[in-house]
Amino acid sequence: NRLPLIAGNWKMNLDHLQAVAFVQKLHWTLKDAKHEEDSVEVAVFPPFTDLRTVQTLLDADKIPFALGAQDLSTKDSGAYTGEISGAFLTQLDCRYVIIGHSERREYHAETDEVVAAKVQAALRHGLAPVICVGETAEDLEKHGAAAVPVAQLEAALAGVAADADIVVAYEPVWAIGSGQAATPQQAQDVCAKLREVVGSALGADAAARTRVLYGGSVKSANIAGFMREPDVDGALVGGASLVADEFAAIIRYQK
Ligand code: 13P
Repeated sequence: NRLPLIAGNWKMNLDHLQAVAFVQKLHWTLKDAKHEEDSVEVAVFPPFTDLRTVQTLLDADKIPFALGAQDLSTKDSGAYTGEISGAFLTQLDCRYVIIGHSERREYHAETDEVVAAKVQAALRHGLAPVICVGETAEDLEKHGAAAVPVAQLEAALAGVAADADIVVAYEPVWAIGSGQAATPQQAQDVCAKLREVVGSALGADAAARTRVLYGGSVKSANIAGFMREPDVDGALVGGASLVADEFAAIIRYQK
């Protein structure tokens, strides 16, 4: 009874003009296929500079995609050059914000403490954090698949209220952009453990309600296998979310 969520993380791709063409093409591809809107939630995560443009387009053409940002500041306002407040994102009708993506952890030295502060910032502004966790190839070898993502999620959920609207994304770092996706069984095993973490931190209701996504080399050819798993409630898609036909096929995984 959890509504599946198929989310496209554009990363640093598609400028605001390309974004318009892409969103329109995706919308019409789904319309032409008579896709049933209510069967799955679709969300797009453009770069900050595209958000206003995409918001205007979704609104004007009544396109039923949710909007999200790829990051936010731990702070609400002030002298923080280059940072973006969650308040600004809420004003642009963002519903979601990705937090703790492995590329932020790796290239911007985001620690578990920073990730936890960003989760708090998102919730303060009424945004649902999409909390990303996942092990590197080295972690996998040393500690197995679940230990690092479990610890990352425990840290991110410290101080989060039981009724908070959150999404968890399990993205093994070795699977991101590598063409080497996890198997559905591997994804299921870790996603089930992450759901247990949500249960311990926020309670059984939250565990039952919260969507846990898989991410890492998801494409139209492998999405159905993930979606058959009981604890995988959707996907966070990178590269394959940039091609309208391919992303539409992922959204239509039931067909
Ligand atoms: P790819 O789908 O390109 O592997 O990227 C996954 C990802 O990092 C989504 O956040």
